[in-house]
Amino acid sequence: MVGGGITGLAAAHGLLHAEADDVLGLEVTVFEAQDRVGGKIRTSAFAGIDAVDEGPDAFLARLPWATGFARRLGLGDRLVSPQPGSAAVWWDGLQPIPDGLLLGLPTDVMKLARSKLISWPGKLRAATEVLRPATPLDGDSIGAYVRARFGDQVHERLVDPLVGSIYAADTDRFSLAAVPQLADLAGAGRSVLIAARSRPKPAPSDGPVFYAPAGGLGEMVDVAEVAITALGGRVLVGQPCTTLQADGDGWRVDGERFDAVVLACPAAQAARLVADAGVDESTRAALARIEYADVVMVTLAIPAADWPERLRGMSGYLVPKPVQRLVTAVSFGSQKWAQWRVPAAETGDEQVVLRVSLGRDGLPVMHLDDDQLLAAAVSEVGEQIGVALAPTAVRVTRWQRAFPQYRPHHHRTVAAISAAMPPSLVLAGASYHGIGIPTCVRSGQQAAARVRALLTAS
Ligand SMILES: Cc1cc2nc3c(=O)[nH]c(=O)nc-3n(C[C@H](O)[C@H](O)[C@H](O)COP(=O)(O)OP(=O)(O)OC[C@H]3O[C@@H](n4cnc5c(N)ncnc54)[C@H](O)[C@@H]3O)c2cc1C
Repeated sequence: MVGGGITGLAAAHGLLHAEADDVLGLEVTVFEAQDRVGGKIRTSAFAGIDAVDEGPDAFLARLPWATGFARRLGLGDRLVSPQPGSAAVWWDGLQPIPDGLLLGLPTDVMKLARSKLISWPGKLRAATEVLRPATPLDGDSIGAYVRARFGDQVHERLVDPLVGSIYAADTDRFSLAAVPQLADLAGAGRSVLIAARSRPKPAPSDGPVFYAPAGGLGEMVDVAEVAITALGGRVLVGQPCTTLQADGDGWRVDGERFDAVVLACPAAQAARLVADAGVDESTRAALARIEYADVVMVTLAIPAADWPERLRGMSGYLVPKPVQRLVTAVSFGSQKWAQWRVPAAETGDEQVVLRVSLGRDGLPVMHLDDDQLLAAAVSEVGEQIGVALAPTAVRVTRWQRAFPQYRPHHHRTVAAISAAMPPSLVLAGASYHGIGIPTCVRSGQQAAARVRALLTAS
């Protein structure tokens, strides 16, 4: 494996776990460039709290792969879920997100009627969706599709903030096909509202929406590293792979021979590595063209005495593009996670932990220094929630080139790249089929299954 993020760890564990049942004599090595595993998953102590995530803080429970992986790692009893809380969009104040949305896409306009987020002309425009002729999907842009069906307000104040906050995206330049929930609804018929009405209602579930280990997502990658080692694998941290060369029907990674290689690193790094591996230039160039967005996560601890009652019970809010400066989303972390409700280390006073996201595709942040980022987070959030914030602890985490941007027709690009790769050189991870942790786990496990099938056949 090249890359010890969640994808590479799931791939290595998948290979070794299957190996425990029958014996192929597999030797599995994970090369990780950084001095720790996890990639975008990183958890550390903050403000007297043992474990506060610096990147992702939960994975979707609805998709089975991450939950299954956690259970296989023995973390089933460690899984916790965020407290349910209401979320808002900041538009002339904090406006509750209306019910009846699917990633921001209205499925029932009556539920929009009461929202102050959309003006009356905007609501009327959205209501005409049922009458509109079919919108062609061949442009594969979320923005173009949603604007055509529901108008600019629904796009800019609902769909773009909700989808954009997951992918750090500008959804006018983001693939509709790459977001399965939206693509399914868009592909289900002429009108979203009619398709939503006639869809079978999902079985009511009172199960959790998200999970994470109690020690944060860092616990999952740490346990995965231990499990891989216990199963006989090697996890080499601080070992960036620099060369990949064909060697008969196998490969040499920095001189060491392997029968198969899973490139579980971002596409940009994969593009660099395949340059000497005999992969054709157009495939290498297609990999190199996959773009990324930078984000910064500022974590703040605020004395609970400064935190107004009206914000209690909320999970956070999103800032839509037309009113964004640098902040795109704010998560009220300690209102979501019970284990983050720990008094301040120095004073023993109750505190509130906020995680503030800055930057996205088209909104650069990396040119700013930490003080500027912190100042922006404190002043913008303070204005938005109407509280003079005086944080007692702060942390700035830079996530450079962290979010792959699935441009329109990303699927076609990935299919062409995959078809051109030699069978024993497998691409996996967030750059290709989905950025969420469950999808990355699935991608790693699928890569493991391909390698296994290949080695079994040979
Ligand atoms: C701020 C933030 C918040 C997020 N929030 C969520 C969330 O709440 N829920 C969710 O499901 N997802 C979330 N995501 C997305 C998710 O975390 C990532 O998509 C996922 O973790 C990516 O995993 P990966 O293994 O594919 O890639 P990465 O985590 O990028 O791992 C790739 C690894 O490859 C290594 N590498 C690169 N080049 C080399 C080389 N030449 N040699 C050796 N190693 C190399 C890197 O160092 C890295 O460790 C978030 C992401 C970020 C950045």
